[in-house]
Order: sequence, then C-alpha cells, then structure tokens
Amino acid sequence: MIVGFIGLGIMGRPMAKNLIKAGYKLCVYDKFAKFDDLVALGAEGASSNKEAASKSDIIITMLPNSPHVKEAVLGQDGVVEGIRAGSIVVDMSSIAPAASQEVGAALKAKGVEFMDAPVSGGEPKAIDGTLAIMAGGSQEVFDKVKPILEKMGSSVTLVGGIGAGNVTKLANQIIVALNIAAVSEAFVLAAKAGVEPAKVFDAIKGGLAGSTVMNAKAPMILDGNFKPGFRIELHIKDLQNALDTAHNLGVPVPLTAEVMEILQGLKTDGCAAHDHGAIVRHYEKLAKIEVRK
Ligand code: NAD
Repeated sequence: MIVGFIGLGIMGRPMAKNLIKAGYKLCVYDKFAKFDDLVALGAEGASSNKEAASKSDIIITMLPNSPHVKEAVLGQDGVVEGIRAGSIVVDMSSIAPAASQEVGAALKAKGVEFMDAPVSGGEPKAIDGTLAIMAGGSQEVFDKVKPILEKMGSSVTLVGGIGAGNVTKLANQIIVALNIAAVSEAFVLAAKAGVEPAKVFDAIKGGLAGSTVMNAKAPMILDGNFKPGFRIELHIKDLQNALDTAHNLGVPVPLTAEVMEILQGLKTDGCAAHDHGAIVRHYEKLAKIEVRK
C-alpha cells in the first residue's frame, strides 16, 4: 500500500516523517515547499497533486484552509484527476466543516471515500507522533485508516460523519482561544492588584481553574515569550470558520466574536505571526501593566 502525503509544512512534514519511520511507503507532494529531505528518507516525490494521487491508495492532505484543500483535491491537476475508485482521501487540515462535506460529496461521485481528521497539538506533538486526532466519516473508512493515523497521534477518535472532525476542531479552537483570554484577563487583574501572576498560577493550577491550556500558555506569558507555537493568524482562520459555521446554523457565539476582535487588533498591531499567548498583550495595553515573572 502506498500513502500519498500532500502539504509538507510545519505539521505535514513531521507527520509524513513519522509514517516513513513506521515503515509506510510514501508518495509526497507540496506545491510550494521542497521535499528533498523526505525523498532522501525513501519517499517518492510527485510533481503534482494529481500524480501523487495516481500513485497512492490512501491520500492524506495537510493544507492551510478550505480553499487550499478544494484546490488541491478538486482543482486543476488535483487529486480528483489522478485518483482511482476505491481509494481513500483523509484531509487532516483544519477547515470549515461545510468544505469537508463538499469535498467528500465530490469524491463520493468518483467512487472515492473521504474522511476529515484534523489534529490538535501543534508542531511538537506532530514531531513526537502524539497528536490528538478527531475524525469524521464512516466507521468502515475509520477502521481502514486508524492504524495509519495512530502513527501520527496518541489519541484517534471517530466523532461522527464527514465534517464532524472539523466541527470538533472548531469547538477545540473556541475553548483554547477563550481560555487564553480568561487567563490573560485574570493575570492582568492580579498584577494590577499587586499580586504576582506567577504565584497566582502556582496557587490555582491544581484547582478548578487549572487547564492544559493554562499549563502550556501561562509560562510563556510570564516569560513574555510569544514565539509560535500556534500563530495568531491561524487562530483567526479557525475562529472565522467557527463564526461562519455557527451563523449558518443560527447559533450566536458572542465570546468567540469578542476574542476574534482581540485577535484582529493584535494582527493590526503587527502580531499576526506571534503565538496566540500574545492575547495577553491586548489586556496589558488596556490596563497599562505588563504581566511578567
Ligand atoms: P503550513 O502553511 O506550514 O503548511 C501547509 C503546506 O501546504 C505548505 O507547505 C504549502 O506549500 C502547502 N500547500 C498549500 N496549497 C497547496 C496546494 N494547493 N497543493 C499542495 N500543497 C499546498 O501549515 P501548517 O502549520 O502545517 O498547518 C496545516 C494545517 O494544520 C492548518 O489547517 C492548521 O490550522 C492546522 N494545524 C496547525 C497547527 C500548528 O501548530 N501549526 C496545529 C494544529 C493544526
């Protein structure tokens, strides 16, 4: 069996490397990034999305957003032009659930199965092969691709039909963004009240307010370290998908909208490429105080 891997950026490259390490034969392609390192590790290089698909039985895509996935899969020289009936496409990008359903339906018409399987965890977990993977599709397709996904993630969960993986990812991104904003708001209050935010963190991390997000981001915030990590511009992309999806369903998401505007302000301030922990900077500006150790 050959696994096609398309999109070899920050996340896709280490994920593809883990599949090679696990013994899978890979055929790789990226429209803009070079992939000599993967070829040196034994992968076959393709010259288009179409060619990668024509040589593979299962095709994984790891691309920035919905338009990139639609172009790579359904566009000119795309996966759909090369793929054989009976193959499976697994899109691991974080995109709009409606786009997953659109791509899934177009592939179904060609006799090709589709699954959306976005990830949480970022580059370190992509490198370690310990991503959290949330999959949307049929049980039958899930059972076929699970052994491959398990080489990239430590948890692989089928959450529903096509698009459900990306609905879950949007939920994840809402919770992460709002959690960072809450931690920021609270730390700025503590600092202004003359209580060291580092001590607040130590005191509360084992209590009800403790969270994986706070454990990951509070040390960075306290060090003033905003090296990504997860870039503000990517979180804007995810919250835009969350807002669009929610509004199409008639679901108001007031807190998501509020944090989206904070992120937009940070982008205007030149922080688009900073880690999303830089949300604290918005609060620091409002209260005219810095939260540092
Ligand atoms: P990236 O921009 O580093 O990589 C995307 C790759 O896709 C690039 O190398 C680009 O050249 C390639 N590409 C774009 N259009 C293409 C096309 N039409 N055909 C072929 N290749 C094409 O992005 P990333 O950080 O690896 O993120 C990928 C996805 O994973 C995004 O949806 C992101 O939201 C999600 N994600 C990222 C992180 C993170 O921490 N970086 C964490 C979790 C999820």
